[in-house]
Amino acid sequence: MTATTLFYIIIAIIIINFIKDKVLNALNAKHYNDPIPEELSDVYDEADYKKSQAYKKANYKFGIFSSTFSVVLTLAFLVLDGFEYVDKIARSFSSNPILVALIFFGIIMLASDILTTPFAYYKTFVIEEKFGFNKTTKKTFILDKFKGLLMIVILGGGILALIIWIYQRTQDQFWLYAWAVVTVFTVFMNMFYSKLIVPLFNKQTPLENGSLRDKISEYAQSVGFNLNKIFVIDGSKRSTKANAYFSGFGSEKRVTLYDTLVHDLDEDEIVAVLAHEVGHYKRKHIIFNLMASIVLTGVTLYILSVFISNPLLSKALGVDIPSLHVGLIAFGLLYSPISGITGLLMNHLSRKFEYQADNYAKTTYGPQPLITSLKKLNKNSLSNLTPHPAYVWIHYSHPTLLQRVQNLKK
Ligand SMILES: [Zn+2]
Repeated sequence: MTATTLFYIIIAIIIINFIKDKVLNALNAKHYNDPIPEELSDVYDEADYKKSQAYKKANYKFGIFSSTFSVVLTLAFLVLDGFEYVDKIARSFSSNPILVALIFFGIIMLASDILTTPFAYYKTFVIEEKFGFNKTTKKTFILDKFKGLLMIVILGGGILALIIWIYQRTQDQFWLYAWAVVTVFTVFMNMFYSKLIVPLFNKQTPLENGSLRDKISEYAQSVGFNLNKIFVIDGSKRSTKANAYFSGFGSEKRVTLYDTLVHDLDEDEIVAVLAHEVGHYKRKHIIFNLMASIVLTGVTLYILSVFISNPLLSKALGVDIPSLHVGLIAFGLLYSPISGITGLLMNHLSRKFEYQADNYAKTTYGPQPLITSLKKLNKNSLSNLTPHPAYVWIHYSHPTLLQRVQNLKK
């Protein structure tokens, strides 16, 4: 295999992936106006339904525009030997491989961030704003950007430096050590994400005493679940859309409810959502997902270690001096079809898990409050009630609302 062949394979992967996405989106868009299924006829009234149609179309058009921009830019960068150019700049500052890699990724990240920020701005302050979802102030938007960048620099930069350092010292067994480092980091983040990272962006307050807390405690006791960490997060700082999630495990396990969720749903519905989250925990989905991601990381790192020392990777991107950092980018591009397939499998599993969590809530608390809560949440986020099955199969981590309602009614 020559570097030129590899280069064309990379270009082909990018183009095929782009076309696949466009076809899938178009297929999905063709069903925007399908009649609403009988079971979901009470989700929207006429006006809200019209609004949801317009919202879907606005996002669809925006998606075509932004993804075309990004793919054209990526292809141009590859064809014009952009990586060689950035590599030269990075090498002009230092000859230390770790520093060169940090500068190299720093430049690429910063440039792509500057280019994509106008799109994020448009999405938040034009589309979300127009449909009444946006609560983000300009100040929050800018602060989020800086905090996000700072986190990437510290965490991403730290891990990258550590991995290159390991690579220089261990070569053949590099993947094992790198795996250990990434695993420790992943487990640590899983446990302490809510304690360490979330407070940088949001305020979390323990759910105050009152009838809601009593109802939740009563439910938790009835299923023998020790739940003393229930937090309400100020999601309304950015959007009216609602959510709830489970995080951590062992002594660090906690449920986080968006203030918007507490506002939109009645108490029984909130307990039902919580029962669903408890279901995820009880059916061991949290631990399974963590294990799966650790195993996948190990496999990926092993495959990476087989190819990374091959100078062809760097040469394929037009870079003369082979290096780990350029190799990583080439590998990432070549590996994307495989990670696409594993993503597909994970989505498939995730949908299975959602049914299991729904069933858990159904048997331990009852189907009705979960059905009405799901309907309200879908209404309030103007979600698509008639997605195309192929789109669901590839992109959905949850079953469709119709599937979930049918399952809950069974
Ligand atoms: Zn779930």
